[in-house]
Amino acid sequence: MLHNICRSTLLLVILALALAAMAPAVMAHQPVDDDPDALRASILAHRQAEADRKGALAKKQAEAVALMTPNMAFYDVTHYDIDLDLNPSSNMLSGTVITTATVVDQAINTLDLDLWSNLTVSAATSGGGATTFSRSGHVVTVTLDRTYAVGEEVVVGITYSGNPAGEFFGWSSHLGEHMIWTLSEPFGARHWWPCKDANVDKADALDIHVTVPSNLIVASQGLLIDTVNNIDTVTYHWQTNYPTATYLVSLAIHPYVYQSDWYTPLAGGDPMEIAFYIYPDHVDDVAENYALTKDMIRQFALGYGEYPFVNEKYGHAEFNWGGGMEHQTISSMGGWSEDLISHELAHQWWGDMVTCADFGHIWLNEGFATWSEAYWKETIEGVEVYRQYMDIASYYGGGTIFVEDVENDNIFDSNLSYNKGSWIVHMLRGVLGDVDFFAGLAEYRAQYEYGSATTEQLRDVLEQVSGRDLDAFFEQWIYGEYYPIYSYGWTEGPGANQITLTIDQVQTNTGLFTMPIEVHVHSAAGGQGFTVENSEASQSYVLDVNDVVSSVEIDPNKWILRRVQASVTNPTFEDGILLVNGVHWGTYDTEITSAFNDSIYTGGQEFAFWDCFPTPGGGYPASLPEPLGHGGVPADLLGQYSTVVWVGNNYAGDLNSWYETPIQSYLEVGGNVLLMTRRSYSYLEGSLTDYLGITWSSDSGTLGNCLAVVSELVNIPFTGQQSWNDVYRTAVGPNTTLLFQDTAGFSGPRGIGARVVPPEGGTHREDGGQMVHIAGRPYRLDHDAVLANTTVILDDYFGEPYNGGTTAVPEDTPTVAPAVTVLEPNYPNPFNPQTVMPFRLAVGGHVSLSLFDARGRLVVRLKDESMAAGRHEVRWNGRDGAGRSVSSGTYFVRLVTVDGGTQTRVMTLVR
Ligand SMILES: [Zn+2]
Repeated sequence: MLHNICRSTLLLVILALALAAMAPAVMAHQPVDDDPDALRASILAHRQAEADRKGALAKKQAEAVALMTPNMAFYDVTHYDIDLDLNPSSNMLSGTVITTATVVDQAINTLDLDLWSNLTVSAATSGGGATTFSRSGHVVTVTLDRTYAVGEEVVVGITYSGNPAGEFFGWSSHLGEHMIWTLSEPFGARHWWPCKDANVDKADALDIHVTVPSNLIVASQGLLIDTVNNIDTVTYHWQTNYPTATYLVSLAIHPYVYQSDWYTPLAGGDPMEIAFYIYPDHVDDVAENYALTKDMIRQFALGYGEYPFVNEKYGHAEFNWGGGMEHQTISSMGGWSEDLISHELAHQWWGDMVTCADFGHIWLNEGFATWSEAYWKETIEGVEVYRQYMDIASYYGGGTIFVEDVENDNIFDSNLSYNKGSWIVHMLRGVLGDVDFFAGLAEYRAQYEYGSATTEQLRDVLEQVSGRDLDAFFEQWIYGEYYPIYSYGWTEGPGANQITLTIDQVQTNTGLFTMPIEVHVHSAAGGQGFTVENSEASQSYVLDVNDVVSSVEIDPNKWILRRVQASVTNPTFEDGILLVNGVHWGTYDTEITSAFNDSIYTGGQEFAFWDCFPTPGGGYPASLPEPLGHGGVPADLLGQYSTVVWVGNNYAGDLNSWYETPIQSYLEVGGNVLLMTRRSYSYLEGSLTDYLGITWSSDSGTLGNCLAVVSELVNIPFTGQQSWNDVYRTAVGPNTTLLFQDTAGFSGPRGIGARVVPPEGGTHREDGGQMVHIAGRPYRLDHDAVLANTTVILDDYFGEPYNGGTTAVPEDTPTVAPAVTVLEPNYPNPFNPQTVMPFRLAVGGHVSLSLFDARGRLVVRLKDESMAAGRHEVRWNGRDGAGRSVSSGTYFVRLVTVDGGTQTRVMTLVR
């Protein structure tokens, strides 16, 4: 149930916060950092609340569900006439519901309806006359006045009363005025009215009469037929002639302000009313976003076909839940955000018009509605915003989207039914392409509109439309768990103008995935796109290319819920230490800034800098150079550095940057890695654990101390609480040395620092491939102790500064003064990423040596100084003046000297 998380507010809040988190201005948001994923947790607070309640609700749900009785299979409801009298002063509901049905399959002489046992049934009718009834559990069995044959129409009335207050019906108030609400999903209709409470049997039409105190306004399904003023009360008569599932029948009652807007159908004709029932104190607040509703209806109509209930209305009725509920033709709204509005509106197509046949397939409702939030944004703000929305909805955890046990499992799991559900829709779009995808939706609608559907029925329709076999798709994504992890690399050949791309699926927690994968091949000419069909653990593809390939990306547009690990293919290790920050600036402000200012992570050596996070609002600490980039570190950049120092935290998203960085591949080619982080298990889970040669302890928690095990290192005192840490056994693998242990935090010593030295080194570096790990929050360690240790680790263990990566070129090699001043050809040329530019100076004096790109813009000034006569060589590493790698292309080197004038040569960088 968990309906109170409502549906879309959820994603809305997530989006708002996540997007906000990207902006420095919001860094003031200070979560409790003792919670492991505090920022994420604060974003996902509703989900957590849900999960906590899951156990408590499961039992109640099991009692509630009582799936259809056998008798219910023998009739098909055509109409409900609901006539209720609501007294909010006494919290009493009384009324009569008349059910009209057609007998199917076999003759019946009784008729079962679901009705909660705490409501009292006072009378029943059949065929217009009084009859008897019995009750068992939450089912009322009405004795029919005779046996009804297949095809006959049966009419049964039940008169009942009671107080249905609970999770599905509320007598609430807003600012002192009555606010009566219902929210019946998934199994709550029977809590307040007798019905056949099953999605597979929608009533073809309903009449809803509700009598309430005169000052109240009743919002419900379809069209308002009339209001009748009685002495102290008023009776609203709503009527819908569209098929409606029982859980989509609703009441929202309050002295609302009622406003209208109008939607013109795509085909023209009379406009349809959009009815807004607004809390009087919210009229100004809702106005701006409510005004978007008609544009949303139009955009969804363009994508999904005309609004399904266009002969009646759409509307919003405010209620007291912290979200929304897609009641048919009148969504109940606990907010007025744009995402909430688009989500509930999209449900009118997906959920209301086509309803999941049972709640095991809830993703057909929630996945589509959640995806529609992104789709709406795409229609008005473009595909980049769409992708941003999808990115935020990424869910990489376990669990199946299909809800196996609707009585006990969490139907409304926000990660699975909503977020990953939306990715199913997104991935279908990717697999099918827009033409077949939207044609498929149209056919799905055509076959199942005003009825219900299962995952398999959707699959069959999409297969029929696209001609594509989607069995594996649905099997792996709906009934399987997790996602693929692709590791890939490429080489030139076998033929001219060919490359061979190899893609491995390296996930270990689930089986192989069958998916088409987009491939983008980059070259100086711009590149080419391919799509490869992938289903095996390791698969190679020969691609015909029309230019020299500089790099290859797979799934560049993120059509797949996956992780991608590019391989580090041509490491140069030429640039020393790359320091990567994974500690959230806004949260750990002074702790992390002071650590950087004391240069504790880099042993006092020079380094380049990379930041997992966006630039902090106040700029970077003085001790840090401008970062080369943000997020995950790309493979080609990684390979330029001989050592990576990663300062992690698993907080607010840095772990994703780690996952996006091909660390394992980097180690295998010979890069060295120092990882300092809390929650280490998440970083090292799987093959990196094996690489490091450790075995995790089942303990995790707050560290007690950090004692050096080897003589060259020193103990590290803590400067703050070291909670949320994972530890390992002190026994380690043959190539691994335990560096630090905790002897105070657990029952016995636990490993919290280790170093592995692979005996063979890495493929591109004999002494490389070393990894050192130190557990603990890296910003709550004694600075002097850390600095002493990183000095040893980087100098003695890793051999930094490392200069064995490339043939060292002396920058200035004066020789005998040449006769003329000349700029010689650079070598190599073409080059990747570095080249040497030799020149001879006949006379000493001021020299300017600069690089320009093909458009004549200055890339970097390499020399601007007085130089002696003689031959000189200057190396260029393919970086601009800010240290950023420049792209492939043509560059000009220009030498300006006192006697030789200006000389220019052309060179080509091919990445
Ligand atoms: Zn929803």
